[in-house]
Amino acid sequence: MQTKIPEQIINTPQGKKANDILRSCVHCGFCLATCPTYQLSGNELDSPRGRIYLIKSALENNEVSQDSLQSLDQCLTCRACESTCPSGVEYGQLVDIGRELVEPNRPMWQKLYRSGVRLFLTTPMLYNTAALFFKHSSISTPEITAETTSARVLLLTGCVQPALAPNINHAAKNVLASLGVEVLETVQTECCGALEHHLSAQEKALQQIKNNIDTWSKRITSGIDAIISTASGCGVMVKDYKTLFEQNDPYYQKAALVSEKTKDIAEYLLEKDLSILNIRSNNISYHAPCTLQHGQKLPGIVEQVLARVGVQISPITDSHLCCGSAGSYSIFQPTISKQLRKNKLRHLSASNPDIIVTANIGCLVHLSSGTDIPVKHWIELLNTSKNT
Ligand code: SF4
Ligand code: SF4
Repeated sequence: MQTKIPEQIINTPQGKKANDILRSCVHCGFCLATCPTYQLSGNELDSPRGRIYLIKSALENNEVSQDSLQSLDQCLTCRACESTCPSGVEYGQLVDIGRELVEPNRPMWQKLYRSGVRLFLTTPMLYNTAALFFKHSSISTPEITAETTSARVLLLTGCVQPALAPNINHAAKNVLASLGVEVLETVQTECCGALEHHLSAQEKALQQIKNNIDTWSKRITSGIDAIISTASGCGVMVKDYKTLFEQNDPYYQKAALVSEKTKDIAEYLLEKDLSILNIRSNNISYHAPCTLQHGQKLPGIVEQVLARVGVQISPITDSHLCCGSAGSYSIFQPTISKQLRKNKLRHLSASNPDIIVTANIGCLVHLSSGTDIPVKHWIELLNTSKNT
């Protein structure tokens, strides 16, 4: 795609990045077929290609209408378009730049509402209190400790997850311990930055990200093999830390180290001998979070781990499509979010499963609120002789 972005914008790091990404798009339209919002509306403005044009216009002519703002707000940042694109367009990075660009045009009442939601979702005292009423799981098995250790990892506890579903990290610790992996936990008083970052609060996000990088890089240099995430929404953000800094930024090297060490729990387990593990249920339906299959580019990874412990997961219809959770999307775009959840649950329920599993706390809570079928993180189903 040809671009005519003014020199003063191209000479900024964000402007250069946006220009490079725009030029890699050949406007073939392949991405339209896998975009959830385009599938619902059939409107080009709700497609990846339409959004790319809007961002191009904003950069070239400073053209930003309320329609552009709405179109970018309605994008789930699911990155299904990236998985489909034959030209490797880094849409996720482009839409973040586009959102920052259009943000000043947002009406004041929307700014206030979004700030309030952001504050609520990132203030431990507030979300921990709310979690008391919406708690999803509690710990039901004793904690085991590794008898002999062959590796040592840092477990990202997450900010909201320990309050809403403490059994997820508990189960992960037990599985890792049973495989001889020593687990250290992060002191995580702050969000990974994902919420702020995707709500165009870049300054606040960057401060949280730098604090995390400072804390975690110290732990890495003290000798750990990997940083483990059990929430794919946090994992993708931490893996992307290195893309947020220029190579001459003092944080670049530390950010790259943290990103390179970070693995989803499924990715880490796949490197291990899992023969001592078994699973509590085999009538399972699995929802692959967008942040795992499109964001972290790990399609099929959980299915591979589950196959290694004896369960074959059949793909569901439209498994590449978002469930509508998408961070804070379900709060700001409830109509689209509910429609996507309804479609996803219809496909997940088609095989009459005993349980639905997923790999991200956001998807788990969102799907749970639309079905009577129990929804869990898949790690909670793994069992060893030591924690039955
Ligand atoms: S598939 Fe890729 S190259 Fe084609 S229009 Fe979509 S983003 Fe552009
Ligand atoms: S990120 Fe998802 S919703 Fe947004 S344009 Fe791409 S496919 Fe569509």
